Amino acid sequence: MEFFDSHCHLDPMRYGGDLPDVLARARAAGVTGLTVIGTRAADSEAAADLACREQGLACAAGIHPNDVHEAEPDEWDRITRLVASGRVQAVGETGLDWYRDVAPRDLQRDFFERHVRLAQKLGLPLVVHTRESIRDALDMLREALSRGPLAVVLHAFTGTTAEAAEAVDLGCHLGFAGMVTFRSAADLRTVATTVPLERLLIETDSPFLSPEPFRGRRNEPGHVVHTARCLAIARGEPLEKFAAATTANARRLFFKR
Ligand SMILES: [Zn+2]
Repeated sequence: MEFFDSHCHLDPMRYGGDLPDVLARARAAGVTGLTVIGTRAADSEAAADLACREQGLACAAGIHPNDVHEAEPDEWDRITRLVASGRVQAVGETGLDWYRDVAPRDLQRDFFERHVRLAQKLGLPLVVHTRESIRDALDMLREALSRGPLAVVLHAFTGTTAEAAEAVDLGCHLGFAGMVTFRSAADLRTVATTVPLERLLIETDSPFLSPEPFRGRRNEPGHVVHTARCLAIARGEPLEKFAAATTANARRLFFKR
């Protein structure tokens, strides 16, 4: 069986000496693909270097909505140069965060829009973070989609069934992370059962959001198997089928060129 962790951050601060072991454990668990996500220019560049070196890795370049107010003057140029270089497979992570609300909302919207247009210009998928902001994010994505095609991943989805249905209608893919495995997350599991299998992705969001039974500890891509198992059970699908479909979805999105 093969699995694909569609969203992880493998920065050296969190995976100093043991990144080779982390990747080896992921492969041993059947995680043959993963997408390493940037949140600033520096870690986006590092993600691209790592993805070039390692088999089965894709990467995304972007500036996280919670970081846009701290971005250096040249950081957006570095992101656009990196994306234009053809070394990245997606744009992001970008989006809107009304929960932490550390960066001014207008600035978050401005950067989100820049990422959207960059992804559209280059025909790359867009990796979107939302927190208590899905309504505004869907409105901006709808506007973008009225201009032209755009592949969208709503990562670590935590919206309602109605919001999931709206996102699916817009053509989005929905990524589910470790919190869907928590005992208290019955509602989110129910939402996940309503998403068409061809639009589902699984992710760890490493080093955050560890699934059960690793909750509270540093996460790593190999743990995505636990999220997959939980979702397959909730949906009443054989794990083999669920793993094959979510892996194919991620490959289609991130490895089309
Ligand atoms: Zn992330």
